[in-house]
Amino acid sequence: MRKIIIAIDGHSSCGKSTMAKALARELGYIYVDTGAMYRACTLFAIRNGLFNGDTLDADRLASLLPTIEVGFQLCEATGLPHVTLNGEDVEEAVRTMEVSTKVSPVAALPAVRTAMTTQQQRMGEAKGIVMDGRDIGTVVFPQAELKVFVTARPEVRAQRRFDELQAKGQAVSFEEILHNVQERDRIDSTRAVAPLRPAEDALILDNSDLTREAQAEWLFAQAKARMA
Ligand code: C5P
Repeated sequence: MRKIIIAIDGHSSCGKSTMAKALARELGYIYVDTGAMYRACTLFAIRNGLFNGDTLDADRLASLLPTIEVGFQLCEATGLPHVTLNGEDVEEAVRTMEVSTKVSPVAALPAVRTAMTTQQQRMGEAKGIVMDGRDIGTVVFPQAELKVFVTARPEVRAQRRFDELQAKGQAVSFEEILHNVQERDRIDSTRAVAPLRPAEDALILDNSDLTREAQAEWLFAQAKARMA
């Protein structure tokens, strides 16, 4: 079986990471959550006072980029990669609503995108990788052998995220989450650099009414067909 690159892009909160992780485990592939990388840059910006309310000091962030090291390290307990910021495991810290509401303007900055894209392309050099994000099939790996663009109705996505955050004990309202999901999609889709859109050769997957099992089965079959 040949090793391939699998790009999973799509709207926020439609279960991309869950499906990408499960597929990588099944295939014995490396899994990379590129959203976590943009979230780590956002956490850096928040911690360093680069936000004044919702306004980001973009020039200062660009000038500090050389001091930001985003990476992944394997968590022994779960066997899954955790995102790191300058060596610190920030997997939990990047999942707050504050980071979710501030990440899109950070991810729209050309300097940030160039830095993250270069790193992501290096990670995929040896193939055997499942990467999820917004621009993997269009910009990072336009040559990926399998590209999937995932979407679901906004209300379905907000409900899934709401359940997830509630389970973690984070107090947020459904309306707040729905607004965040829609707002992130709007900013991600309309930005000048690497906007969120399906690659021409991507398979479109609307999982609003699909079970996790049915989706996993479909995805596995698509991957197998391209690895043969
Ligand atoms: O996937 P996740 O929802 O964690 O991504 C957080 C944010 O990071 C997205 O809303 C988007 O602004 C940005 N992102 C991106 N390009 C990627 C992955 C994520 O711009 N490849």
